[in-house]
Amino acid sequence: MTQSQVSSQPRLLTEVESKELLKQGGIPVIETRLAISKKEAISLSKQMGFPVVLKVSSSDVVHKSDAGGVKLGLANAAQVGRAYTEIVSSIKEKYPLAKIQGVSVQKMAPPGVEVIIGMSKDAQFGPVLMFGLGGVLVEVLKDVSFRIVPLIRRDASEMIKEIKGYPILEGYRGMEPADIGALEKLIVKVSEFIEKNPQIKELDLNPIFAYKDKAVAVDARIILEA
Ligand code: ADP
Ligand code: MG
Repeated sequence: MTQSQVSSQPRLLTEVESKELLKQGGIPVIETRLAISKKEAISLSKQMGFPVVLKVSSSDVVHKSDAGGVKLGLANAAQVGRAYTEIVSSIKEKYPLAKIQGVSVQKMAPPGVEVIIGMSKDAQFGPVLMFGLGGVLVEVLKDVSFRIVPLIRRDASEMIKEIKGYPILEGYRGMEPADIGALEKLIVKVSEFIEKNPQIKELDLNPIFAYKDKAVAVDARIILEA
């Protein structure tokens, strides 16, 4: 990646910037703060309470974990300090030209069903929302559903039921069921958010953790129009 390629591309907001915009739009995101030094990362972790997650914060890094930029389940200050150093050195090695703002700090979310909501713009239909289960299910099986923005609650409900993995959301073999109502509300909120923010070219909430009584996005990526 050269510097000229970076500046000519549509602008990628960092995770912290993306979550801030989403939060203003009433979309539930896990509280996430930017630390610009190791010391600050440690003090934010102590404020939030362990275990925490550290992630690289750079508008030049699209896939944070592929580049060694995500460290999960950090249980104390020493682990946070070490993770900070490892993240920065791994990114410097893989993307020498990337500008690193610092790292984001957030609580380690308890396990839930991972789902994703995405938005991309179709030349003919305009903004289209995608819903699916997270992780390998979306990557390998492409088990996703689509609807054109704007969506109403019924569209959201249909979109969720349409995926093949729906039984997993209902609570498969003793797994805790996901809060389907919260997911429907979230999809409608994202649709409203997209309508109010036409400057957004692409949006990815990947993953959202769905629990029995709520759903919250733990990663967010927004790309603005060039
Ligand atoms: P990227 O998609 O840029 O690689 P993510 O922020 O999605 O980075 O992190 C990678 C994975 O780490 C996620 O898919 C999720 O499984 C896990 N993860 C991320 N943030 C949290 C969190 N706050 N709590 C628990 N797990 C998380
Ligand atoms: Mg992600």
